[in-house]
Amino acid sequence: MSVRVVARIRPLLKQELDKDTIVTAESPAGNDAAPTVIRMPNPKNENEFFSFQFSSVYEQEATQQQLFDGEVSPTVKHLFKGIDVQIFAYGVTGTGKTHTMRGGKSLADRGVIPRLLSNIYRRCRKVEKDTAGATQVEVALSYYEIYCDRVYDLFEPPEKRTPSGLPIRDNGGKTVVVGLTEKPCTSLKEFEHLYDQANINRSTSSTKLNAHSSRSHAILCVKITQTTEDTVRVSRASAIDLAGSEDNRRTENNKERLVESSAINKSLFVLAQCVEAISKKQSRIPYRESKMTRILSLGQNNGLTIMILNLAPVRSYHLDTLSSLNFANRTKKIEVAEIENEPMQRVKPLAATASIGGANIARQPL
Ligand code: ADP
Ligand code: MG
Repeated sequence: MSVRVVARIRPLLKQELDKDTIVTAESPAGNDAAPTVIRMPNPKNENEFFSFQFSSVYEQEATQQQLFDGEVSPTVKHLFKGIDVQIFAYGVTGTGKTHTMRGGKSLADRGVIPRLLSNIYRRCRKVEKDTAGATQVEVALSYYEIYCDRVYDLFEPPEKRTPSGLPIRDNGGKTVVVGLTEKPCTSLKEFEHLYDQANINRSTSSTKLNAHSSRSHAILCVKITQTTEDTVRVSRASAIDLAGSEDNRRTENNKERLVESSAINKSLFVLAQCVEAISKKQSRIPYRESKMTRILSLGQNNGLTIMILNLAPVRSYHLDTLSSLNFANRTKKIEVAEIENEPMQRVKPLAATASIGGANIARQPL
């Protein structure tokens, strides 16, 4: 299976209403089937058009619910079968990545992440009910950001962070962040509280107020543990809001900003190189050259990967939109093996340690 790449065009913002819309969605054969093609003029020659084919395309009017139902909801049953799921939003700053992943406060505006959690909790209850309690499901969360190639725990208040960030290491083919908080979370309400608090940590962790969030990659990991009398099966859903993919070199000048933008450029550049190498079936994939690519492990992890390419429809984004589209076009070619995490024979805790299980879990790495 390859990475499923879908495009989403955001609506015009109030201040853009009189601007030129240059990105449009089309059906492949010009018929009235659902659109799967993005069309945009060549910035160098406006009479020429580029077309990019995707698994699906969401137009300006598409709702959060439609995107979720079309792309994310179908993955939940796989997750409960032990298949890992990874969903990431890629795009230029201001194209709707955070809106797509996190969304707004109202029920209709909620993004992929709260909807995913809501769905997961519903399924937990169903599994427990269908098995008459023989299968217990536990959900635990970790949430962190990668900023200037350093990993910071978003469940940790900014003043408690080590400036150098948390180390990462390979653990049986999976990349893990060492020392990351893992919080058991039993309900949607509890999730909302934890997530909101962590997002405040994200936005206040910067000394500069302007758009820190567009300069860091935020990774939410939902770990699902299904336990029966004899087995325990673990699977994970990761939802990632990547840093803005615009060419930061064009706009930056002060020194601190240069360090930041070279880190962003580097991680997204390495990501593009990985994608390039994978699509050309090269043997050496430069994953290890940035933390973000190590964690994302595109094409290396076994599971379902969905990339949502966020696009702004207006001309002011023209060049960056084209480079996003080219990147996404290569990403489609990545093959991912869909392999279940086998249930493991359960090691039953001793009665004495069982009572501190919850506290123990909280400080374990991913
Ligand atoms: P990014 O995270 O990619 O920088 P944002 O998610 O912050 O972009 O979106 C930029 C602006 O566009 C925000 O004001 C957001 O509310 C608005 N926006 C993005 N996508 C949509 C959408 N599908 N519907 C309505 N408003 C949107
Ligand atoms: Mg954002």
